[in-house]
Amino acid sequence: MALSKQQVLDWLLRCSEVFAREQVFLTQLDTAIGDGDHGLNMNRGFNKVAEKLPSVADGDIGSILKYTGMTLLSHVGGASGPLFGTFFIRAAQVANAKQSLELSELRLVFQEGVAGVVMRGRAEPGDKTLCDVWWPVLGSLGQSVQQQINVIPALQQAAACAEQAVQTTIVMQARKGRASYLGERSIGHQDPGATSVMLMMKTLAAVVEE
Ligand code: ADP
Ligand code: MG
Ligand code: MG
Repeated sequence: MALSKQQVLDWLLRCSEVFAREQVFLTQLDTAIGDGDHGLNMNRGFNKVAEKLPSVADGDIGSILKYTGMTLLSHVGGASGPLFGTFFIRAAQVANAKQSLELSELRLVFQEGVAGVVMRGRAEPGDKTLCDVWWPVLGSLGQSVQQQINVIPALQQAAACAEQAVQTTIVMQARKGRASYLGERSIGHQDPGATSVMLMMKTLAAVVEE
């Protein structure tokens, strides 16, 4: 079984609902170690994505992901706009002309997206960034591809992995972004951007379970 284009559309639409619901929580996390706008940023960005999603729904998965990235890039400021925007724009490049994605293709799409984020943000493992969730998720998906697991349990495992990974950011000291200004005082708080990635993965798992 593969991830269908409709599931990708459902995922993005559902993300806009999730970020609307979780805006206050994400903002609380960012208030502790940043400037308190992460929830607002993600909600604004995905709200914009959802707005014109129907008008790009006829395109292939690549064009839908590219539209998502461009929208996030142009409507979200701060660190997360360029980072999530770049994620989707780079991811789109390996989803060109696709109407569905096998698990191995989906893994490649995410891998490219993360490569774009790393190129832009230069995060390293343990820097307390959203990459500290993306990397374990990529590892989990890679393992599932090797074991030829079905896309549904594979995404359930990846979501569970994301939930664990976001917890590991609590004990990390931030070395990138605004939170790094706090030095050791950034320890003991969950990273907001990493939390958003976890929410996106949980949402994707929920969409394929239906
Ligand atoms: P800003 O910090 O500009 O206000 P947000 O609050 O929306 O932007 O996003 C903050 C999140 O961005 C952090 O929680 C972290 O996960 C992520 N982040 C910041 N800098 C980097 C980076 N260089 N690489 C990867 N992620 C980063
Ligand atoms: Mg912020
Ligand atoms: Mg900001």
